[in-house]
Amino acid sequence: MSTQTTYDAAIIGGGLAGLTLAIQLQQQGLQTILFEKENYPFHKVCGEYISMESWPFLERLGVPLRELQLPRINQLLVSAPSGNYLTQPLHQGGFGISRYMLDHLLYKKALEVGVTVLCNAKVTDIREAADVSEVQTLHEAFNTKLVFGAWGKRANLDVKLNRPFIQPTQRRLNDFIGVKYHIEIDEPENRIALHNFENGYCGISKVENNTYCLCYLTTATQLKNRNGDISQMEAEVLHKNPFLKLIFKRARFIYDKPLVISQISFEKKSSHAGNLMFAGDAAGLITPLCGNGMSMAMHASFILAGLIKQYKQPNKRKKELIAAYLEAWNREFAGRLKAGRFIQGLFGNPLLTNLTVSALKPMPFVTQWLIGKTHGKPF
Ligand SMILES: Cc1cc2nc3c(=O)[nH]c(=O)nc-3n(C[C@H](O)[C@H](O)[C@H](O)COP(=O)(O)OP(=O)(O)OC[C@H]3O[C@@H](n4cnc5c(N)ncnc54)[C@H](O)[C@@H]3O)c2cc1C
Repeated sequence: MSTQTTYDAAIIGGGLAGLTLAIQLQQQGLQTILFEKENYPFHKVCGEYISMESWPFLERLGVPLRELQLPRINQLLVSAPSGNYLTQPLHQGGFGISRYMLDHLLYKKALEVGVTVLCNAKVTDIREAADVSEVQTLHEAFNTKLVFGAWGKRANLDVKLNRPFIQPTQRRLNDFIGVKYHIEIDEPENRIALHNFENGYCGISKVENNTYCLCYLTTATQLKNRNGDISQMEAEVLHKNPFLKLIFKRARFIYDKPLVISQISFEKKSSHAGNLMFAGDAAGLITPLCGNGMSMAMHASFILAGLIKQYKQPNKRKKELIAAYLEAWNREFAGRLKAGRFIQGLFGNPLLTNLTVSALKPMPFVTQWLIGKTHGKPF
């Protein structure tokens, strides 16, 4: 049974794409409901380095970034498993903020502007219809004119919709795990370091409150081969990189256990299914190595909100809206995702990583070009 209200827009997933889209739509006068299966504030597996491109957007939404005195990051260090490394300035650069803090600030902003936010509300089904669709949670159903999928990398609804990227496949971009810790350590606060190890890489950069985020990505097989023992994998694989060995030795780990997610896929996705439009990782995930998935998620919501504003009565013009969104999405992100996949291919194999680092070291302009290919302009 669905409730009486018919919302103008329903957004499934309250990460960066979902929350920023909800705030903008509500501010544009659409009665908006957002469903999040967790309860704010909560931690997420993410490197927590945000490229500067989304700074103006977040400030416009009312996130007081300046007051938070967040670390500004303008140096990059990349090391190979052997310890060979290069450093580079990051011209556009970024800043550090934990997802615990950022998502919570956006959640509070969404409530303040009048979005109906349902927490602990896992969506189990979407029944689409031409005019009014129904969003089903574990306990209730809700009517809405427009539905947006912002549920992140992989969710129950991807299975329900039978999206191609969840099909079992042997392809090498489909089965990664992410592991994250918050640590205290003495490291340069303006630097993001990417330390490579066999079949993976680990990012470390500063967030708020003198804390650093240490987050790595590797293959599920690497962990399976050690019967799921994360400490054993870290000792046998990550610590072969002398930088990582030292970091793990010197760090004070703030959680008892790391946060872990699995089944991460970098395969191509579609940015819509029927009348359902996706934003953020639900539409396509850039390899974390490029450090701007969060900006892309927010940028997609900015594009969507702009188009919805442009199309008066968007629910009556869904086909046109979807076509315009697809075109804008591809123009903005398809090239960046492709570049991300290419760069990911240069790392993983220790020998190749070492060669890549050695080759890039005397050619800073090539490194800058690669960084530029995966980053966008401020929006
Ligand atoms: C290891 C790793 C490191 C990364 N490091 C960085 C980095 O340093 N910088 C960067 O810019 N990007 C990084 N990224 C990418 C970044 O985390 C994502 O691009 C970003 O979080 C995408 O935001 P989103 O809103 O699409 O998804 P999410 O933030 O994942 O939000 C999706 C939300 O949907 C909710 N949800 C899921 N299913 C349902 C359901 N059925 N019903 C209701 N709610 C649901 C989830 O609980 C979640 O809160 C990294 C990614 C990984 C894997």
